[in-house]
Amino acid sequence: MSATERAIASAEAHSAHNYHPLPIVVASADGAWMTDIEGRRFLDMLAGYSAINFGHGNQRLIDAAKAQLERVTLTSRAFHHDRFADFCTQLAELCGMEMVLPMNTGAEAVETAVKTARKWGYQVKGVPPGQAKIVVAANNFHGRTTTIISFSTDAEARADFGPYTPGFEIVPYGDLTALEHAVSANTVAVLLEPIQGEAGVLVPPPGYLAGVRELTRERNVLFIADEIQSGLGRTGRTFACEHEGVVPDMYILGKALGGGVVPVSAVVSSSEVLGVYRPGEHGSTFGGNPLACAVALEVIAMLRSGEFQQRATELGDHLHHELGLLVGGGSVDAVRGRGLWAGIDIAPSRGTGREVSEKLMDRGVLVKDTHGSTIRIAPPLVISKEDLDWGLDQLRAVLAGE
Ligand SMILES: *Cc1c(COP(=O)(O)O)cnc(C)c1O
Repeated sequence: MSATERAIASAEAHSAHNYHPLPIVVASADGAWMTDIEGRRFLDMLAGYSAINFGHGNQRLIDAAKAQLERVTLTSRAFHHDRFADFCTQLAELCGMEMVLPMNTGAEAVETAVKTARKWGYQVKGVPPGQAKIVVAANNFHGRTTTIISFSTDAEARADFGPYTPGFEIVPYGDLTALEHAVSANTVAVLLEPIQGEAGVLVPPPGYLAGVRELTRERNVLFIADEIQSGLGRTGRTFACEHEGVVPDMYILGKALGGGVVPVSAVVSSSEVLGVYRPGEHGSTFGGNPLACAVALEVIAMLRSGEFQQRATELGDHLHHELGLLVGGGSVDAVRGRGLWAGIDIAPSRGTGREVSEKLMDRGVLVKDTHGSTIRIAPPLVISKEDLDWGLDQLRAVLAGE
């Protein structure tokens, strides 16, 4: 048994099998590269589902974390701390909004968005008690809590976890007419991913997000954009909504907001919406802690420079040009995405997404399959063009059966 096989066997014996990782055991990482326990190097073309947008071990983020570790790491929200106001002010400013409610994980922030929209619905919009409805899209991914999986259409994510939370209506993604029919007097929010990540990097038809914005504004419904995966530089803009010139009523952020160092998530909105809260009505022991704020402040500063959005745009154009050349050649059925983010539908004759991912791993490239035949590419935005090209070479070799 190799060291890798031993480590995996022991992980499988003592951890719940809620994931099916590729058979690599990472020991360290730097930039876009990871090294396993046997000293082999791998190009990370997943970037922790976009949590590692700024690369592994980004020096600015590590320095910010280290400096904060030496001062104070956790106060709870029972007291103020000296990084909190800056974090909230600067994040609100980055989003062009007014108020922030910090949490830790993405799912918690989505839960917070759901609770906020309902409270806003009762207190501001005047929806009768207990009647608030939120419209969501089919094939969404918003996290794993019981309420969130209640409005999932993924059988695996839902089975045997009921009873489910009521109050949600599901419409096809990208279909404005269906959305229009679903929105009623008691609808408090439309909750969408501006690009559906887990579904296979599905970009909605042009005009969809703008149409959602218009409809929700007309009907006095909150437009909530879950930008946990699509946001913070991934698509070439700070927010994927920007590609359609759309500003929602609320952003849900997570993943890259913590710089790959600590979990940091947040709901960002107007004072009309987040102003509904009074002390005691919602909270989190770790949400907005000093370490999280210090790291996120550095993330915000890096995003303000525009440098990472620029890289994602330029390298993304290159990536999509190269991937586009593969479509129709018999190995790739379709490619979707924006910026440094792509979903690639592998032709069934070339194997499943999992098989292609394993072959790529054997060639030193790490990606993740989704929904059987799709692989997802989302390298750290700091990846060099040379490394990206090398990764693409490996993909072409695997698809050619080499
Ligand atoms: C990852 C993700 C979530 C959930 O985030 P966690 O931190 O895993 O709870 C929610 N929404 C979207 C769009 C995501 O990609």
